[in-house]
Amino acid sequence: MLDVTEIRKDFPILHRQVNGQPLVYLDNAATSQTPRQVIDTIVDYYSRYNANIHRGVHTLSQEATDAYEQARIKIQKHFGAANTREIIMTSGTTEGINLVAQGFTGFLETGDEIWVSAMEHHSNIVPWQMLCERTGARLRVIPMNEEGVLVLEPFKEGLSDRTKLVFCNHVSNALGTVNPIEEIIQTAHSAGAAVLIDGAQAAPHMRADMQKLDVDFYTVSAHKLCGPTGAGALYGKEEWLKKLPPYQGGGEMISEVTFEKTTYAALPHKFEAGTPNICGGIAFGAALDYLNGIGMDQIAAYEAELLSYATESLLAIEGLKIYGQAARKTSVISFNLEGVHPYDVGTLLDKMGIAVRTGHHCAQPVMDFYKIPGTIRASFSFYNTREEVDRLAQGVEKARQMLS
Ligand SMILES: *Cc1c(COP(=O)(O)O)cnc(C)c1O
Repeated sequence: MLDVTEIRKDFPILHRQVNGQPLVYLDNAATSQTPRQVIDTIVDYYSRYNANIHRGVHTLSQEATDAYEQARIKIQKHFGAANTREIIMTSGTTEGINLVAQGFTGFLETGDEIWVSAMEHHSNIVPWQMLCERTGARLRVIPMNEEGVLVLEPFKEGLSDRTKLVFCNHVSNALGTVNPIEEIIQTAHSAGAAVLIDGAQAAPHMRADMQKLDVDFYTVSAHKLCGPTGAGALYGKEEWLKKLPPYQGGGEMISEVTFEKTTYAALPHKFEAGTPNICGGIAFGAALDYLNGIGMDQIAAYEAELLSYATESLLAIEGLKIYGQAARKTSVISFNLEGVHPYDVGTLLDKMGIAVRTGHHCAQPVMDFYKIPGTIRASFSFYNTREEVDRLAQGVEKARQMLS
């Protein structure tokens, strides 16, 4: 088991007060907090070797380049990619998705089909709608049921040689459902379609192995993995990345430029135009080191226990309804109190020092499915404690008494 008391010492922010109360941070699905080890990496970068990469012959530039490429290796190993050519450094999940959506423009034609799941984040819906507008392809939806679980039959029956792409999140940020991506990937491949999995919400809780999954593309954001904002990675199978055109033009992504013709750099640099978030990439690597130092399996086991304790505690509250009751869930609980607007509960909880998310969680189709304006979402990390769950449950009970 984890020594959470020790772990919490790594996170300076967890020791601050909010509205006169010790902070209870339960908005981890929106962004995670940053341990001292990652903060130190950032300070060290700007204190000792801030320089542009891949360009200078001078020492600082070489040190920065080494550290940045070292981070790429850490990402490659963590996600089980075959080599670093398959790891594109991005500003986050959203950019990774847009890179793929943009790249497929030339591969689709009118009548082709793209499937997305009913529980996607907006960042995983809008780029496909834009791709459909550009190409005349049609967007189809893998439906979900009342438990918050995807129903695969319509997808299996609807597949054809017109199916070109399938997109699904590994874990739903609104409900915490772990989706059956293994089955989705196999099914899509049997029809010859490529698959992109949005791993933003899965990566903090479990390790995904790119080669075992046989997935074509997988995206993550560092800031949900104890890293900084503005950094992330896109995994792409080498054969796909070779085929896709560059995403943006600029420095860093070229091999030779004349006014007549430009040849592109080799992978992965072909997709990395301009000066990247050097410090962010290096800090992303440090964050993976930190998580692996604790152990992803240990994190998963601890969070599973915290989830069941929190589920039980919240369900004991009168009129409380939990949305999303899949058998396989990460430590996310979306809920509402009968007759009370989620925003009002969130505001009262903040007065008690408890940070939760309220609203549609960038997943409006899920809210429409349940015919609700939004939910209160408490999302737990390995640095949260049972005492914090108790404070949440007491806070929600108090809010219920005040508001109903
Ligand atoms: C957070 C999140 C995103 C967007 O990530 P950014 O870091 O904002 O690019 C996409 N999909 C899911 C499931 C998420 O949780």
